[in-house]
Amino acid sequence: MSMLVSKKRLDPAYIPDMRPQDILMPVAAGLCCKPGGFHIDPVRPVERAVITHGHSDHAKPGHGAVLATQETLDMMRLRYGDNFARSTQAIAYGEGIRLGDVTVKFHPAGHVLGSAQIAVSCKDTCIVASGDYKDAPDPTCTPFEVVPCDVFITEATFGLPVFRHGDAADEVNKLLASVALFPERAHLVGAYSLGKAQRVIALLRAAGYDAPIYLHGAMEKITQYYQSRGVALGELRAVKGVKKADLAGTITLAPPSATSDIWTRRFPDPVTAFASGWMRVRARARQRGVELPLVISDHADWDGLTATIDATGAGEIWVTHGQEDALVHWCTAKGLAARPLDLVGYGDEDEGDAPAAEDAEA
Ligand SMILES: [Zn+2]
Repeated sequence: MSMLVSKKRLDPAYIPDMRPQDILMPVAAGLCCKPGGFHIDPVRPVERAVITHGHSDHAKPGHGAVLATQETLDMMRLRYGDNFARSTQAIAYGEGIRLGDVTVKFHPAGHVLGSAQIAVSCKDTCIVASGDYKDAPDPTCTPFEVVPCDVFITEATFGLPVFRHGDAADEVNKLLASVALFPERAHLVGAYSLGKAQRVIALLRAAGYDAPIYLHGAMEKITQYYQSRGVALGELRAVKGVKKADLAGTITLAPPSATSDIWTRRFPDPVTAFASGWMRVRARARQRGVELPLVISDHADWDGLTATIDATGAGEIWVTHGQEDALVHWCTAKGLAARPLDLVGYGDEDEGDAPAAEDAEA
């Protein structure tokens, strides 16, 4: 595939027999694959959905048939109940399935457990819809894989050169230094329930922290699910019912909204932390009343986005949900065809501005 891609890129006279926009097209419901008869991550109910990962802005209930990894299907079942779709089909990384006139293949996206990029091939054109992804290491999911393709569809949550996430292990060390410094205070870490919370726990364990870690009720089920899939997270306890005094010197993970409401009164003099790529922006941390910002993101930063675009060998880049302009400009300056996709409805859960869906569970 990579040889084919580079040959196409080098030969200006090369004309593919199918235009990429005939294979995948943005419509109101999401990315529509007409020749395959499905939508990718549809935001409205459709007959056949192919879903990249379990975050609620990508995985909605109410579709006819859903094709996704086993983990994504399980997460949807946990959140929405058994009847979240009329029928489901699990697909493994690397497995190819024929749908209509196209072949669909899933590859790891490194974003959260079970997250996938979806390669859609039709004749000799391959388009990769990467969903949300990160190329940084994460002990809680399969590492991101570069998939050579003709058209690469990338997110742009952190699509500005100011966003450089750094090493997540350093951020967790800041948290542990604060815990050591304030043994009489509780540490309350705001983290999205699906993915970020489990990654922070795994990073704490990797840093040698072996005390029990406490969980807000809204993250118990999904965290137990991670453990059931073999992700080692050490001893976890429900924070509910624990006496205030017993929480001194401990770490509790909670959905971001819980860390700024009256729920925090059950903790002794809490230090409020928040694990998000947005914590690079000091004003955001101040706005949220975050005392200890931790720059830990499950999305690629600027360097990750541009390195990935390069590595795919794609000659055409479609940029979606986030800060599209700078990335489109970067691609164009490199001689790549690039355009914003103008898909709406994404970025509401994990690191979007209004993480309403999962906070509502709290
Ligand atoms: Zn996501």
